[in-house]
Amino acid sequence: MNCEQLQDHYELFALGLVEEPERSEIRDHLNRGCKTCRRGVKEAMEMAALIGGAAPQHDPPEALRRRILASAGVEQRPMRWAALWAAAAALSLAGAAYLGYLDWQYAADSSRLRSELRQQQAEVLRLTQAFAILNNPFTRDAAFGNGQPQPPRGRVFWNPEQGVLLIASNLPPAPVGKRYEMWVIPKTGKPVPAGTFQSRADGTAMHLRTGELDVGNTGAFAVTLENEAGADQPTSQPLIVVPAATR
Ligand SMILES: [Zn+2]
Repeated sequence: MNCEQLQDHYELFALGLVEEPERSEIRDHLNRGCKTCRRGVKEAMEMAALIGGAAPQHDPPEALRRRILASAGVEQRPMRWAALWAAAAALSLAGAAYLGYLDWQYAADSSRLRSELRQQQAEVLRLTQAFAILNNPFTRDAAFGNGQPQPPRGRVFWNPEQGVLLIASNLPPAPVGKRYEMWVIPKTGKPVPAGTFQSRADGTAMHLRTGELDVGNTGAFAVTLENEAGADQPTSQPLIVVPAATR
């Protein structure tokens, strides 16, 4: 193929989305130093980097997360994640600096960028849902772990329409092959699985179960340690139990 046939595919190539045979064709052009394709792909890459870089500046998921933790009275040791975030930002900058190189690695770089962006969007969505629960006037909440010497500590927020949000600190990451599982325990009947989650290295965890909740029949919320796949019914003593007190 010639450059003219390829020029409509530069953007997709930069995003790692272009199909064969255009993908191989563009790589060939780049590898043999085709100036037209180099310039075209470089511009497309810069655009992709701009789009990818814009999101964190406006809505850093970590800042949102910190606000949520703070509003639940959970302190987060700031160093680790802040350092990771800075490293990620530095990597992005380094990625931008590599724009001059233009070889087949472009595809890999842009696909990494794309997947980072997708993860970030998912995280922002999750945090937005968490905020919605926190800000809803019909949300109730209860603290757990206060006054215990070796606590997981934190707070559960629940809302009849939006679900359950659990925020914890002092919860060490579950061992390899295990995950934490949240349960909604009805006043009558068996515990209902409410999703599995993992805590972070700093011991903070945020787990959100969206969906409707039969508040009138909810007696408590609990967290157990289960196998990675999760369980239908709790198989271990709960680490966290929070009565769903009605007031
Ligand atoms: Zn070309």
